[in-house]
Amino acid sequence: MKISWKAILLWSLPFLVIGFFLWQGFLAPTTTEISNNPANSRMTYGRFLEYLDMGWIKKVDMYDNGHTAIVEALGPELGNRLQKIRVELPASDPELITKLRKAQIDIDAHPTKNSSALWSLISNLFFPILLIGGLALLFKRSSSSTGGPGQAMSFGKSKALFQMEAKTGVVFDDVAGVDEAKEEFQEVVTFLQQPDSFTAVGAKIPKGVLLVGPPGTGKTLLAKAIAGEANVPFFSISGSEFVEMFVGVGASRVRDLFKKAKENAPCIVFIDEIDAVGRQRGTGVGGGNDEREQTLNQLLTEMDGFEGNTGVIVVAATNRADILDAALLRPGRFDRQVSVDVPNLNGRLAILQVHAKNKKIDPDVSIQTIARRTPGFSGADLANLLNEAAILTARRRKNAITISELDASIDRIIAGMEGTALINGKSKRLIAYHEIGHAIIGTLLEHHDPVHKVTLIPRGQARGLTWFTPGDDQTLVSRTQIISRIMGALGGRATEEIVFGNTEITTGASNDLQQVTSMARQMVTRYGMSSIGPLSLENEGSNPFLGGSMSSNNEYSDGIAIKIDAQVQQIVKQCHNQVLRIIRDNRVVIDRLVDLLIEQETIEGSTLEYIISQYTTIPQKDVYIKQL
Ligand code: ADP
Ligand code: MG
Ligand code: ZN
Repeated sequence: MKISWKAILLWSLPFLVIGFFLWQGFLAPTTTEISNNPANSRMTYGRFLEYLDMGWIKKVDMYDNGHTAIVEALGPELGNRLQKIRVELPASDPELITKLRKAQIDIDAHPTKNSSALWSLISNLFFPILLIGGLALLFKRSSSSTGGPGQAMSFGKSKALFQMEAKTGVVFDDVAGVDEAKEEFQEVVTFLQQPDSFTAVGAKIPKGVLLVGPPGTGKTLLAKAIAGEANVPFFSISGSEFVEMFVGVGASRVRDLFKKAKENAPCIVFIDEIDAVGRQRGTGVGGGNDEREQTLNQLLTEMDGFEGNTGVIVVAATNRADILDAALLRPGRFDRQVSVDVPNLNGRLAILQVHAKNKKIDPDVSIQTIARRTPGFSGADLANLLNEAAILTARRRKNAITISELDASIDRIIAGMEGTALINGKSKRLIAYHEIGHAIIGTLLEHHDPVHKVTLIPRGQARGLTWFTPGDDQTLVSRTQIISRIMGALGGRATEEIVFGNTEITTGASNDLQQVTSMARQMVTRYGMSSIGPLSLENEGSNPFLGGSMSSNNEYSDGIAIKIDAQVQQIVKQCHNQVLRIIRDNRVVIDRLVDLLIEQETIEGSTLEYIISQYTTIPQKDVYIKQL
């Protein structure tokens, strides 16, 4: 049986909990002098500390091993009368005593009066006994199921601590949209298949390949595909499994893993989440972790220990190459890095085609359109999308997946579950104006992505939504495009202002405003798009241990900080004014669209464009989008 320490922890938890309650509730004698004390009022510990700071506490009597106190307090909030108040104290706060003494407050402790010494002994032993008993029981269970005594104690033994697949059944054709990575790996596959042709010319194949990329981009899949293509066994373990509770286990697992791998060479050893063990050593934040370091050292030793041509190739995956220990990346270890990124349009198309193979999709569905609507989706997201659509199709009792199910699934994955419809009323009207505001700005600005649809059906956090068809995956965004996006995001609030007046604007725009601010700020501090000039003033936070905002090391003076704020404000203000003007100029069509939206709940992009074009000219947008 596979016995993991997570399981032990999980198992002992109920015992711990039960033990604690029993101990606290039944066994610990509660009849102490407290009940004799006429302190009827209570206050929270936090309040007590406040009072203490104010100097209103005069005397503290501790009961119940310091769990409870009756304090005498005098203060204006208490009507300047000396009062006795009961406070529950946290189990241990050694600083409290120091604090009380500093404040020269009269402290007194009253011992718990037990009926007998034996009783106290039992109650003190009960909890540990229960815990030990629970653990013993667990060991017994696990050893009886493995069939041998003492099995559960040999934590480090390789048995079942890593997975081995003799045949993964995955081939390169199953992995799409990551052609460069596949090319790199083709070499590895060739080596595994015919090592002689490499060794004959004295070539050494890399021992380790590091796969770097965000979650769900197919790293595990790729590693399996190498093994599958080369027809060799696949050993895998995840870094977080290395790092477990007991010292030495991680290191011994590494040893076992490599021993088994060498016996089965040629083969692939896959270490997932290597960042869990392979972080830079000694970075200090959060305390050192000797266990992790030992594991890492063992890993390095093992990788040095086998000759490049034994036929064991280590593939590791991480989404954070930047935090890995430099020693791991040295030649002779993971000297090759292959990055797999979130797929671009063509990649998404290819991945969708792979996963569409075993699904029944209506011939009218254009996979291309789906790929266009899903920028930022990883391979896993796309696989999930098709699956969701298939489930929905089955629920609707259809024979094949149509665009309607796919659309619904995309919406759901991006924006969350569909909520219940809004009831007609002022709030619905306001939301309608807000969304049409976004939509009209999006339609009328040449450099804004065109509107895909507007809807009043709530989803996730949002109560109404305007969807845009994103252009091709853009790595370069122009100033005009950012400005257009800022204006688009301001469109909702601006319309609320004009239609309902400044006093009626709502909190609904908070998310929009967040985006507006962050875009404007980035224009100034990162892209050099303001009159401060082409300076990069803020870096993306790169400290692996602190959140981005905490660690962003800003390299500017306070004087510049003031200028930045002024520039951000100016950009947003200019955009806002322009948006207000566009909304005012188009009030007639906005009113008409709002009526339609309230009636139909959803307006498709084409309908929207058609109606708007009856009132004003819509600028020509990029050609490829028009083709859709
Ligand atoms: P990672 O290890 O990078 O987090 P996985 O390899 O576990 O991602 O991917 C999870 C699933 O997503 C895969 O089993 C596969 O169904 C799908 N997937 C991810 N990337 C791709 C891809 N490039 N081609 C085909 N399917 C993919
Ligand atoms: Mg994975
Ligand atoms: Zn909005």
